[in-house]
Amino acid sequence: MRKLDTRTIVVASHNAGKIREIADLIGPFGFSAKSAADLNFIEPDETGTTFEENAAIKALASAKASGLPALSDDSGLVIDALDGAPGVYTANWAEREDGTRDFAMAMEKVEKALSDRDATTPEQRTARFVSVLCLAWPDGHTELFRGEVEGKVVWPPRGSQGFGYDPVFQPEGYDTTFGEMSAEEKHGWKPGDAQALSHRARAFKRFVETCLEA
Ligand code: IMP
Repeated sequence: MRKLDTRTIVVASHNAGKIREIADLIGPFGFSAKSAADLNFIEPDETGTTFEENAAIKALASAKASGLPALSDDSGLVIDALDGAPGVYTANWAEREDGTRDFAMAMEKVEKALSDRDATTPEQRTARFVSVLCLAWPDGHTELFRGEVEGKVVWPPRGSQGFGYDPVFQPEGYDTTFGEMSAEEKHGWKPGDAQALSHRARAFKRFVETCLEA
């Protein structure tokens, strides 16, 4: 396992919601970070078939373009009744023909797919959010960290916080969706805490334990 010996990194993302959450998570560690969006890097094609492959593609592209270590996130919603869809294609389900993304439409697609399969009860709507963070160095070395959070898909969407599919995801043990939680509640973690809530915070905790702590 390679340790990170600098606090200057690139956040290898163009997704405003993810960039904000990663900024929250790295904040207490004194990082100075620019995002791939700030640096006008081209978004690489996500040609992998796993979260790990796509996370590595993004982190390596930013590490090579910047000459700095780069931290990416590849994530998605995995729904049991849909045989794991949308999974690595979670962002694609939100894509309109003109290339823009519409998450209200994407959440409706999920709801329709579940109704088409007669998955109407909470027990039939189990799902998990998955996040794989990849830290890549310019020499091509990578470290991968996976975080998952179990929950269920609810309808109608609730809450306007967070991003993406947050309004339809209710984590296990909670009455509120991620869309109804503040960023602090959704992360459910700060340095030193033993547990985290969101998939991204769980993956980030592993990154801290592996690459930052002595
Ligand atoms: P990708 O990792 O760029 O391929 O896209 C991941 C997709 O999953 C995005 O479209 C997000 O909207 C969705 N997603 C990932 N993490 C979250 C989350 O924490 N909340 C809501 N949606 C998420």
